[in-house]
Order: sequence, then C-alpha cells, then structure tokens
Amino acid sequence: MAQLADRYTKLGTETAFAVSAEAAALAAKGKKIYPFHIGDINLKTPENIVQAMMRAVHEGKTGYCPNPGIPELREALAQNINASHGTSYSMENVSVQPGGKPVINKFLLALMNPGDEVLYPNPGFPIYESLIKFYGGKALPYGFHEGKDNFEINLEELLRSITPKTRLLILNDLQNPTGAVAQESELEEIARVIREHDLRVLCDEAYFDIRYDGQSRSLLSLPDMAERCVLLYTFSKKYAMTGWRVGAAIGPKDLVGAISQFNVNDESCTANFIQHAAVEALTGPQDGHREILKVLQTRRDRAVEILNSTAGIRCYNPNATFYLFPNITEAMRIKKITGHDEFRKTALEETGVSFCTRLHFGSALPGETEFYIRLAYSGIDIDQIEEGLAKLKSFIEG
Ligand code: PLP
Repeated sequence: MAQLADRYTKLGTETAFAVSAEAAALAAKGKKIYPFHIGDINLKTPENIVQAMMRAVHEGKTGYCPNPGIPELREALAQNINASHGTSYSMENVSVQPGGKPVINKFLLALMNPGDEVLYPNPGFPIYESLIKFYGGKALPYGFHEGKDNFEINLEELLRSITPKTRLLILNDLQNPTGAVAQESELEEIARVIREHDLRVLCDEAYFDIRYDGQSRSLLSLPDMAERCVLLYTFSKKYAMTGWRVGAAIGPKDLVGAISQFNVNDESCTANFIQHAAVEALTGPQDGHREILKVLQTRRDRAVEILNSTAGIRCYNPNATFYLFPNITEAMRIKKITGHDEFRKTALEETGVSFCTRLHFGSALPGETEFYIRLAYSGIDIDQIEEGLAKLKSFIEG
C-alpha cells in the first residue's frame, strides 16, 4: 500500500462518476440503462469548431504555447464577456485553462488560507466542498428552498453563516443541480453582502449560456463586482465540448496572473490546437450552439411533462442548465423507501433508470426534510427519455 500524504484523507470526489460506473457494470451484464446520471452531452461538437481544430493540427499548432493561453483566445474571451456582462476586460484579465474545473482549484489555491471560511452552495457541484476541505479551509454551506417557479437561494441562511473569518463565496448561478436562476433582487442582495463583508467570489458560470428563454444576467455586471470576482468560463456545455478540456479564469489582472502561475507549475498550457478551435467557437457562426439548445429544450419539456404526471413527483421546468431536480418525497412514501440511495438503487435495478440524488451534491443540511433526485437530460435522446421515465412512473405507481 502506498503511504499517501495525510492531506489526502480530506480529498473528496465527484460521486456522479461512481453512479456511472455502477450503471456501466449493470449494462455490461446486459441490463438496459437510461443514463440520466451525468452532465455529459451526447450531441456532436459543431462542425466549424471541429474543422478549426483539424486545421490547427495540420498547420503545426501542436507545440507549447504561452502559459496563460494564446493571445487570440484571451482577446476573444475578453470581448465575448464584455459584450454579455458589461465588463471592460482585456486579454490580461483572461487565463485559459484546461476546462472550467481547474478554475475552482486555482481560485482556492490563490486566495484561501487554512482556516479561512468559504460559503458554497449545497446542494451544489461537489468539487467545491472537496477542495475547500483539502486545502484546510472551512466549508460553509448555503442551501436552496422551493420558490414559486424554481429553487431560490436561502439568503437568510447564507447571511447567518458569515463570521469575521469568512473570506470567499462561491456562486453558481444557473445552478447544478437545481437549475436555479437567481432573480435580479437576489443578485443585488448577494452583491450587497459581498461588499459589506469584503468577500472575494468565484462566479461559476458553467451554464450561463445554457438558457432557453431570455438573457442571463451575471453578478459581475453589478457595481463593484468585477474587481471582486473570478469568472469560471467553460466551452464544455455551450458547445458540447466536455472532452476537449478548455475553459478560462477571467477576473482582476493580479489574480489572473497568480492563476496563470499555477498553469506554469501544473500543465504548462492548455492544448495549443484546442485553443485555436475555441477561438472559432467564440467568433464563428453560432448555429451549432443554437441547435444544441433546441434539442435540449425539447428533451427538457418532455421529461418535465412525464415527471409531473407521475404520482408523488413534482418538478419545476427550469429555464436553464440541462438538469431537473424533482421533489420525490411523496413517491418515496408510496414506495415505503426511507433513504435517497435506497430509492436510487432500487429504481436502477428495477427500471434501468440511472440518476443521482441530492446526496451526490453534498450532505443534507440540518432541518432538511424533503427528498430530491437529479436527472441530467444532456446525454439521453428523447425516445429513451420517454421510455425510461415511463418505466420510472410504473415503478412508483405500481
Ligand atoms: N461547474 C459546474 C457547476 C459544473 O457542473 C461543471 C461540470 O459539470 C463544471 C464546473 C466543470 O466543467 P468543465 O471542467 O467540464 O468545464
């Protein structure tokens, strides 16, 4: 057995990958699986982006490139964000990364001292809590409640948790797993809290452009926020590029410089030819992205319709992300099941429908009494959504 470093015991993981492995093991035994468990996309990357990547490889753009990214991509990202967020970034505000995920790691490494407190969403992307704890910070969860049309942040809970040691806040608007989109008034209140407590913020906007109706609004566009926030940008979801591994940290120049120094120490640079493809993604035609959204929206509407026709399930129709987070409390009572994981495993074994539960996105918070599952509809075609959710319906209704 390797003698691992002591700190290793504090490192968490993304347990959705474990659900994938469980589903794959059942599939290998011949069981038909309906994959709702992971936020991967079974749609092709738009052809203009693929062609740009091939051209770059053929032109020999296969060597190292500058650690913070190629100037064309940094500039294109700055202009793109300026147009949607009302900021005034230049390429010095942009550090290209191999995906969005590394921004979480590098943000915490650059800003968090051991003992510092970090507010983070729970349920939320599990990597936040894993890395805060790994680096010796104190993770302060804030939750969500069911609002009129969608989940809303428990702002009172967030405020109550703040102490003089609270230094950082992680905000994932257009949220995984709930699909929550903050109202203007919520963003303003969050900005007020940030100013009052002098917080630095990671704005995880992985799903900023996975929005079906209207225009997303970023916390960054509010007064004083650009100087306090690091934006997590990723090409993964918007352009169906999860496996390409390209994203960026965008924020104040000194902080972005510090983040780029981790690039020097970690991966040297994000793959050169992938960055050239990313320039095409931003500056070329956007038909591919629009087509991806259209397919996802059709899937969402059908999935929500079937879920809401199922006894004991209620589900919002979120305007963003490709996740659904239905309340299954009553369905569990009908099935006489008392735990999240028992519900998940029994449904998987009996129906082949594979999904995550609330517990894959953090431990339940004190006082939490409702039960939820998370369904990703990004990796499953509409006929399979219909077939799988019909089976889930019969499983619950008997
Ligand atoms: N942030 C959130 C909220 C996510 O859901 C994900 C991926 O699922 C990421 C960040 C990381 O995305 P990537 O590293 O593929 O860019």
